Amino acid sequence: MASVDAVTLRPTRASLKVNGVAATEFPHLGHREEKSVSVSVDPRPLPPYVPTEPGLSQRFGVLDVPLQREVWSPSRLEAWLKCPRQAWLKQHLRADDDEEMSTEDIDIRIRGQVVHETEAAILHGHGVPMGGEITTEPQPLHLGPMGEGRAGWDAVLDFLQQDVHWLGRHNAVSVHRTKDLIDASPESWQAHQDGEIELPPRGRLARLLNADLALEHAAPVAMEWSPRVESERSVLLDTREGDEATGFRLFGYADRVDVVVLPDALRSMLVDQGVLGDADHETPFPLHDTPRPAQRLIVIRDLKTVRGPDSASAGLRHMRCLFEDLQLALYARAWELLHPNDRVIGVGASEVGESTTHYVELDSDLAALSEHLSIGELTQVFPQHFPASTPSGTTTTSFRRWMAERLTVAQRAVDTAHQGHVHPTPGAHCSYCAVAHSCDVSQYSGGDF
Ligand code: SF4
Repeated sequence: MASVDAVTLRPTRASLKVNGVAATEFPHLGHREEKSVSVSVDPRPLPPYVPTEPGLSQRFGVLDVPLQREVWSPSRLEAWLKCPRQAWLKQHLRADDDEEMSTEDIDIRIRGQVVHETEAAILHGHGVPMGGEITTEPQPLHLGPMGEGRAGWDAVLDFLQQDVHWLGRHNAVSVHRTKDLIDASPESWQAHQDGEIELPPRGRLARLLNADLALEHAAPVAMEWSPRVESERSVLLDTREGDEATGFRLFGYADRVDVVVLPDALRSMLVDQGVLGDADHETPFPLHDTPRPAQRLIVIRDLKTVRGPDSASAGLRHMRCLFEDLQLALYARAWELLHPNDRVIGVGASEVGESTTHYVELDSDLAALSEHLSIGELTQVFPQHFPASTPSGTTTTSFRRWMAERLTVAQRAVDTAHQGHVHPTPGAHCSYCAVAHSCDVSQYSGGDF
């Protein structure tokens, strides 16, 4: 039985530094250089064990009736990548062991919800409709109404006052959370609500607002954006080059989408380089062909609430979003499919902890501008891990090859389900598996696969 534990799927600082594209073949399961091994090209979902006896085949996880599902969300797909047995038990049989959440888990979940809703309130004040797209000329947050004096902070406090009713209560948990989020005591929060004082911008949410206002070249255009066409709440993704029969419909919500707005000098540079242009297109930006000029450049962001972060962990959640998760790549392609004149040139996690950092992995076609770009903390790791060509040898960028590879991985997850393969894929994740009691390879039934 196969397990992913032997390969590095979760990026570490050491594995990210190894030049994976120097491997003699692509894809690979990790390229060794001196003491370290690079991140593996994602092989998931792992193939099932293939026994010769039909009875054994069913025991190892092959259903007689394939699972049919047309519309997929990134989180549903990610579950199939990790372990098809777990995904099948939870998503189709709705079997779930009792979920025991620790107080710390509940705390992180509540904090995550408040962070998302606070960001939505800030962007709403900027004119970005929840779930939709801005129709006026995009402009960065600091140049809009939220950048005027206390307006942004007041939008945050108004949202908290209207929607977060536990704030300012006197129990220990609420006192701690109020201090953490806005650096206020229950008494000062009450005084603010009574109009007696103005709370200064402090705490975790003030730092989130400041990080938003600092993105001088990023204009937010959508929040909780859902890819949809007129007749459907989903969009058909083109997952395989030249194969129009494959693909699946994507449903979900992208946390935040920004348009890059540049000073004239930088814009002219990109026009000269053939990255920007005025031509109108009816077909989406090429994924398996040479890039062409686009009218707008786009950044897709995923908001992640993190512990800390300390210096050892800062930026690693962003890397997990790039290498382990699917949603950034899927939403990036969905945006391009629905906006043929746009090109996604940046994706990343906004790590919201005690401080906020908007990380962005930047397409190498914009590398020459990186010193001047204020769209977040830039990373450029893809050139070390994805070839700057398509599988058929056409020149593209590592960023676009990454997007194509993640779509291929997502399609494999869909194929696994459609083929009725629900085999267990054990690994370190079994320790957190909510259906471990029902799984015959878990430690509860002997373990040690
Ligand atoms: S215990 Fe492990 S192998 Fe079994 S269903 Fe859970 S994650 Fe999969």
